[in-house]
Amino acid sequence: MRKLLPDPELVEVTSGVYAYLQPDGSWMVNNTGVVTGQDGSYLLVDTTSTEARNRSFFAAVETISSQPPTALVNTHHHGDHTYGNWLMPERTPIIGHVTCREDVIAAGLVAAQVLTGPDYGHLEVRPPNVTFTGSMTLHLGERRVELIHVGPAHTRSDVVVWLPDERVLFSGDIVFAGGQPFLVEGSVEGYPKGIAAIRELQPEILVPGHGPVVRGDDIPALLDDLVEYAAFVAETGRESHAAGLTPLEAATKARDNRFASWQESERLVGNLHRAYSELGGNPLDTRIPLDGVWHDMVAFNGGPIGCFA
Ligand SMILES: [Zn+2]
Repeated sequence: MRKLLPDPELVEVTSGVYAYLQPDGSWMVNNTGVVTGQDGSYLLVDTTSTEARNRSFFAAVETISSQPPTALVNTHHHGDHTYGNWLMPERTPIIGHVTCREDVIAAGLVAAQVLTGPDYGHLEVRPPNVTFTGSMTLHLGERRVELIHVGPAHTRSDVVVWLPDERVLFSGDIVFAGGQPFLVEGSVEGYPKGIAAIRELQPEILVPGHGPVVRGDDIPALLDDLVEYAAFVAETGRESHAAGLTPLEAATKARDNRFASWQESERLVGNLHRAYSELGGNPLDTRIPLDGVWHDMVAFNGGPIGCFA
């Protein structure tokens, strides 16, 4: 059954910095951002999933500037953040971590093939064409924007977009506000380090990859919860791995837990697949085939996973 979601909203979180918020933050319904400089330059933070959602996002951006974007940054490779890349003007650089480029190319349109609910419209794969490791700083007029690689956490290509003068952070999918973290393509071990890197920045306004904007004291409280979730996954993984359970059996046994009310609770199965990989001694950036994981998540969910993008 089709669920109708509320309309996206363009919100100015501080002067000249906008979050484009898409409720309800569930599968493939992500947030993006627009960071303007006083000289007329501006940076887009991510694109979105379907052609219709991308065209609505770009129409909203046009209310801020009629010029093409100065640059686009991808916070990571996932399709809900990169499927609009192909709609960028050819001369607009698309910036991402070096592994973001690799993983956009490797993933192709797999997200649209497993999450089959939406009408995606036309899609093309277009990876970042400006890549970096570590960090880089953009100067939009007087405004400093730091792109900092903090992966592997949600994925190995995780980059946060940090405005040090305004203390605004675009976290990408390291933070789902209201949803369970998804670590199958990231790292159970690396995730708390990604959160620690965010905490160290001491943001005052946090725009998550999915869910509502988080401000002030709610930020450290949310980060605490996310670290506790990762510890829960790690502990469940250790016990279940030692007991010889499969990730699906382990998730089913642990179904009633204090995080079960968070959105997309089926992510626990995928997260345990990643925990098992790490417990087996595999390098953190080992690829886990998504089709098997997805099959288990559907089984845990008791049927197809809804996607209403
Ligand atoms: Zn993601």
